Amino acid sequence: MDAVYQRCIHPHCAATCAVEETSFVCPRCGGLLDVVYDWDRLPVPTSLRAFEAKWAERTNPLSFSGVWRFRELLPFASPEKILTIGEGQTILQRADIVANYANMMPGNLFLQYEGMNPSGSFKDNGMTAAFTHARLVGARRAACASTGNTSSSLAVFCAATGLMRAIIFIGSGKIAYGKLAQGLDHGALTVQIAGDFDDAMQRVQQVSRRLGIYLVNSINPFRLEGQKTIMYRILEALNWEVPDWIVVPGGNLGNVSAFGKAFFELRDLGLLPRVPRLAVINAAGANTFYNLYEQQGLRWQEGKPNTAVSESYYRKLEADQIRASTIASAIEINHPVNLNKALRALERCGGVVREVPDQEILDAKAKVGAGGLGCEPASAASVAGLRRLRQEGVIGAEERVVCVLTGHQLKDPTATVAYHSADQKTFDQVLGQRGVKRATFANRAVQVANDLDEIIKAIEVYS
Ligand SMILES: *Cc1c(COP(=O)(O)O)cnc(C)c1O
Ligand SMILES: [Zn+2]
Repeated sequence: MDAVYQRCIHPHCAATCAVEETSFVCPRCGGLLDVVYDWDRLPVPTSLRAFEAKWAERTNPLSFSGVWRFRELLPFASPEKILTIGEGQTILQRADIVANYANMMPGNLFLQYEGMNPSGSFKDNGMTAAFTHARLVGARRAACASTGNTSSSLAVFCAATGLMRAIIFIGSGKIAYGKLAQGLDHGALTVQIAGDFDDAMQRVQQVSRRLGIYLVNSINPFRLEGQKTIMYRILEALNWEVPDWIVVPGGNLGNVSAFGKAFFELRDLGLLPRVPRLAVINAAGANTFYNLYEQQGLRWQEGKPNTAVSESYYRKLEADQIRASTIASAIEINHPVNLNKALRALERCGGVVREVPDQEILDAKAKVGAGGLGCEPASAASVAGLRRLRQEGVIGAEERVVCVLTGHQLKDPTATVAYHSADQKTFDQVLGQRGVKRATFANRAVQVANDLDEIIKAIEVYS
């Protein structure tokens, strides 16, 4: 067998296929696939600290990339095949203002800001890996269904590399303006389906199969290989000390799956003494994972999760015509494609799942903003979820926590402006129908006549 291959995640099946295969489903049982490395036949890094040497090679694009400077930990392509646009130059920031809001001790909360990626979200970490795989197999067209950020990332990578034509499927009226703008501006073929994300996801899989188009949704296991590096960068920024918790918003559950794989590979390679616990935060209006994991007790069970539980849940959603609905559009997903991988990650990492209403998501987002980082609503779900886990006492004030801020503030200016708006109509239009009652931390613009004395008076009053 090859040193790198794809393998079904279910141990009792464990069917394998070649690294070049692009169907991204198990050929035997239809389950999800992992990228698997035979470490006996690959060079293994001697220590995590050894990666710091890459900082001295920043004129080499592979070492400049925040993804590929860890390439020994995702060695599915030879270096000359790797496609990078400089993704992964992101920061881990100590966040005391947000810590105070979440009832954490100062110095114990860090925010991993993935909004600094070229397309403004963490998706670029995965897209560079998917593009590298696409080049490996000679793909000419790439497609995705998207709530916005996967399509932005695909559009940026297609435009910047010229490797493939981007085809993006979006639900009608379901995409934040910043994200739609990117797809259009970067020349992607944009297909707007009369339906929501879950509909678009089904269609893109059918169309890709029929037309042989390369799929870059997170069902693609190569994308998750790239997303592992978010955890490597967090460890690096903490001087290789393992945090107690990683808190991440959950949509299609690709990130949490990738994070779990990252930590378990490091532990199995003897590079990490212990793994952090994982907390996944759903929006209350798109809470499939919370419902299945916390309320119905669905578990991985060594690769044999009780599928009757999830199937009957999905049937009920269908019968009651329940659609995902949250201001956090990036996680407005009711059928997470990586459900089983996420169950596996939580089992191995002592994970928990929580749901947070839009009100708390937006209040948390305002606090993140007040602390100096700009994120989109979905990202702030991590902070809102942390606050709840602190209230419940699941996370201790003295524990060390990293919340992942998945996307940039300017992705969804509509939500931010509505929250801070002094105009009740604007607020109601965007947020009222979401059950958001008040903008607890609004920073409202001051209305003042075009008159020097009035302006000076207003400034004296408000500053
Ligand atoms: C895609 C996305 C998510 C959800 O990540 P999953 O890996 O699908 O769970 C969360 N936040 C933002 C900003 C995203 O773009
Ligand atoms: Zn299988």
